[in-house]
Amino acid sequence: MIVETAPTEEQEMNPWLAAEARFEEASERLKLDDGMRKVLRTPSREIIVHIPVMLDDGRLEVFTGYRVQHSIARGPAKGGIRFAPDVTLDEVRALAAWMTWKCAVVNIPFGGSKGGVICEPSVLSEGELERITRRYTAEILEFIGPEKDVPAPDMNTNERTMAWIMDTYSMHFRHTVTAVVTGKPFNLGGSRGRVEATGRGCMIVTLEALKRFGLRPEDTSVVIQGFGNVGGMAARLMSAVGFKIVALIEIDGAVYNKHGLSIQALMEHKKESGSILDFAEAENIDKDEAMFLPCDVLVPAAKENVINSHNAGRIRARILCEGANGPTTAAADAILAENNIFVIPDILANAGGVTVSYFEWVQDRQGFFWNLDLVNRRLAEIMVESFDAVVDYAQKHTVNNRIAAYMVALDRVAFAVKLRGIYA
Ligand code: NAD
Repeated sequence: MIVETAPTEEQEMNPWLAAEARFEEASERLKLDDGMRKVLRTPSREIIVHIPVMLDDGRLEVFTGYRVQHSIARGPAKGGIRFAPDVTLDEVRALAAWMTWKCAVVNIPFGGSKGGVICEPSVLSEGELERITRRYTAEILEFIGPEKDVPAPDMNTNERTMAWIMDTYSMHFRHTVTAVVTGKPFNLGGSRGRVEATGRGCMIVTLEALKRFGLRPEDTSVVIQGFGNVGGMAARLMSAVGFKIVALIEIDGAVYNKHGLSIQALMEHKKESGSILDFAEAENIDKDEAMFLPCDVLVPAAKENVINSHNAGRIRARILCEGANGPTTAAADAILAENNIFVIPDILANAGGVTVSYFEWVQDRQGFFWNLDLVNRRLAEIMVESFDAVVDYAQKHTVNNRIAAYMVALDRVAFAVKLRGIYA
C-alpha cells in the first residue's frame, strides 16, 4: 500500500526526500521485499577524507572530502565530484543513489557514486584548487579506477580538474590511465560530443515524445528555462531540427518571440552583452510568468524544484522534458498527471551526458576513438531505446513516466543483485 501524507514546505523542496518518495513508490509497486529495499537504499561504501593543503599565503588548511559509492551491482560506480562550501555527506549520498538509477534507466553498465570537497572555489587560486584536487585524489586512490569507480565533473569542477585527477592517478600507477575519469579534455582521451550530449539527449527524447502526439517539430513551440550547458545546447539543437523556441528564461529575465527565436543570434547577443535580455528579435517578458506560457514543450534546464505544488497547476505545456536534475517536486507529480502532462523524467531526459561519459570510458579502454557521427548515432540509439522502455512500461503498468523510470531502474539493479547473490 502506498501511504500518502502531505509534505511540509521544507520536505517538498528537499530533493533527497523527493528521490526517496519515488524510490518508495517504485519499490512498493515492484513488490520488492524489505531486504532488497535495504540493499538498494544503502550505499556500499562511504569514504571521508581530511586533506591538508598548503595555501598560497603559506597557511596550512585542512579540507574535508567525501566519495560515496552507492552501488557497483551493474558495473563500476560512476559519478561526479563537486566543490562547494555547503557539500554534505547526506547530499553526496543521495546524489550517488541518483546516479545508480540514471545509469540503470539507460542500461549502461555502471553503478552510481558521487564525491565532494567542502571548499569555496571562488576564493581559491588555480594552484590551490590543483593541490586540493591532487591530494583528494591521492586519498581516495585505491577506491577509484576504470574498473572500480569513475569520477566526472560536477558543480565547480571541470575538464581541468579531471586532467589533474587523471594525472595524479597515473603518476601513482606509473602509467597513463585515461579511463579513470570522464569529462576530460578531448586531447587527453575525452570524447567527441560530450559537451553537447545532455542537450542532445533532451532533443532526442522530445522528438520521440512528439511521435506519440503526432506532432512535427515545425509545429511545436518550446519554452526553455536555463541557457547554460544543457538549456543552451538543447535550444540550439532543437532549433536546428525545426522546433520553434518561443521563450527562453534566464536568471535575470526572459525573452519571447511567438514565431521562434534565432538561437544562434541569441547566443551571440548573450556573449556580447552578458545577458539574453534586450535581444532585437524578441520582447523582454516577466521571467516568473514565462514558465506558464501555453506551449507544446517546456524544458526546465536550470535548477531544482522550479515546478512544485504551488505552481504545477499553471503549467500549460503538453510535454515536460526535464533537462535539470530534480526540477519537479514529488508533490507536483500528481498535479501534472491530473493535467495529463507528458513528463520525460530527469533520470531519463538528462541521461545523455552520462551515456557519452560511458562512451568516453569505452573509447579510453579500447584506445580507439570514434568520430562525432558514431557518438551521436549510438547516443540516439540508447536514448530512443530507453525512452521506449520507460513509456511502454508506464502504459503497461498504468503508472506515470517518472515512476516507470524508477521501476525500470530499480528492477534492473535488483535483478543484478539477485543474480550475483549475497557474498558471505
Ligand atoms: P549551467 O550552469 O551551465 O547552466 C544553468 C543556467 O541556468 C545558467 O545559465 C543560469 O544562469 C541559469 N539559471 C540559474 N537559475 C535560474 C533561474 N532561477 N531561472 C532561470 N535560469 C536560471 O548548468 P548546466 O550544466 O546546464 O546544468 C543545468 C541543470 O542540468 C542542473 O540541474 C544540472 O544538475 C543538470 N544536469 C547537467 C548535466 C550536464 O551535462 N551539464 C547533466 C545532467 C544534468
